[in-house]
Amino acid sequence: MKKLLGILSILVIFLALNTVSASAAVNGTVKVGLRYGSSAVTSAKLENTQSGGYDLGYYDDGRSFVTLGSITQTAITMPQDKPRYLMGVGTPSNIIEAVSRGVDFFDCVMPSRNGRHGKLFTWEGTVNILNRKYETDPSPVSESCGCPCCRGFSKAYLRHLFKADEVLALRLSVLHNLWFYNELMQKLRDALDAGTFDEFRAKYSGKLEQRV
Ligand SMILES: [Zn+2]
Repeated sequence: MKKLLGILSILVIFLALNTVSASAAVNGTVKVGLRYGSSAVTSAKLENTQSGGYDLGYYDDGRSFVTLGSITQTAITMPQDKPRYLMGVGTPSNIIEAVSRGVDFFDCVMPSRNGRHGKLFTWEGTVNILNRKYETDPSPVSESCGCPCCRGFSKAYLRHLFKADEVLALRLSVLHNLWFYNELMQKLRDALDAGTFDEFRAKYSGKLEQRV
């Protein structure tokens, strides 16, 4: 347990440091929303700024519906000479689609918040560990995952921990999801380096959204 908490702390600190360093370096911002129509113009103006990169966010004023598609589409119009950072996105498939439009950095509560609600991301799709079909399932959340949760515990035990309101359920689930997101970002970087991103996107973008 001590070892598990140690690994979790390292992961959290690692993610926090990455987020802080990205925020410190990136400061030119394009807001998508009511002014979406002028975002291309805004992007062009950004080229003359001294920012270390470009942030991409959106207005949520309750009057306009901003889709992820419209946000990531804006990334295409942004200058390509510096890193582009998309705020608050998203699911594994959202991230793959945003990368296909040129986004370089992300931060999001998705892996930790979904983990605390029993929603676990795997390469086979999304697992809702609270589902009754896992009540006696002796297999790990993901056979291909090397995280301490999957190496040490079954779906049935993890589901039992949730049902018993044990805080260990939240810790194990968040740990698994953070592990998965780290692996996702590593595989995305590898695919981009190897020139195989299109194949990676075709294989996983839809699959990772599916419930298993
Ligand atoms: Zn795992």
